[in-house]
Amino acid sequence: MINTAFIGLGTNIGDREYYLRIALQAILDKNIVINDFSSIYETDPVGYEAQDRFLNMVIKVNTTFSAFELLRVLQKIELDSGRERKIRWGPRTLDLDILLFNHENIETERLIIPHPRMTERAFVLVPLVEIQQDLEIPAAIKPISLLLDELQDREGVRIWKRRSGEDVFGLFEN
Ligand code: ATP
Ligand code: MG
Ligand code: MG
Repeated sequence: MINTAFIGLGTNIGDREYYLRIALQAILDKNIVINDFSSIYETDPVGYEAQDRFLNMVIKVNTTFSAFELLRVLQKIELDSGRERKIRWGPRTLDLDILLFNHENIETERLIIPHPRMTERAFVLVPLVEIQQDLEIPAAIKPISLLLDELQDREGVRIWKRRSGEDVFGLFEN
């Protein structure tokens, strides 16, 4: 079965563009198909504010992995990038969160889908809407456009590299 998932990428340590690039390459190397992608945004930190700004983007993928297998693959990529977990919501080389997986609702200790904090985060919703304006978030009470309108921290999310071309790596050219 081919599943469709949206993944949110975030990085705020070192060469952030490099970490996005290796994340995308590692995802492709796992035979996960990147089907669409957003621009890259530079965003003010949320939750723990005494840290550098993030680069964030969202990708849409097709995969035969189950949600749990995908989580395992993404966590391995995070660890390979040298990620350490010290402070909750603190600095990280790479954060790869599964935002949506098909139209499923999953609630376990290890995995919650839709990602439980996605609807309150402009750094997630802005790139997500760029990819798919009419996206339906399972169990969300309001449409995504309305959720986005209500967010306070939208001005903390600025375009950093606009999407150009059809190849995800084209994004990083020029
Ligand atoms: P946040 O979840 O608020 O974005 P974070 O991404 O910094 O914070 P992590 O340290 O990356 O948090 O992950 C903590 C745990 O969240 C992971 O061990 C993982 O099992 C769990 N988790 C639950 N749901 C998801 C999901 N949809 N995507 C990724 N991780 C998830
Ligand atoms: Mg996260
Ligand atoms: Mg995470």
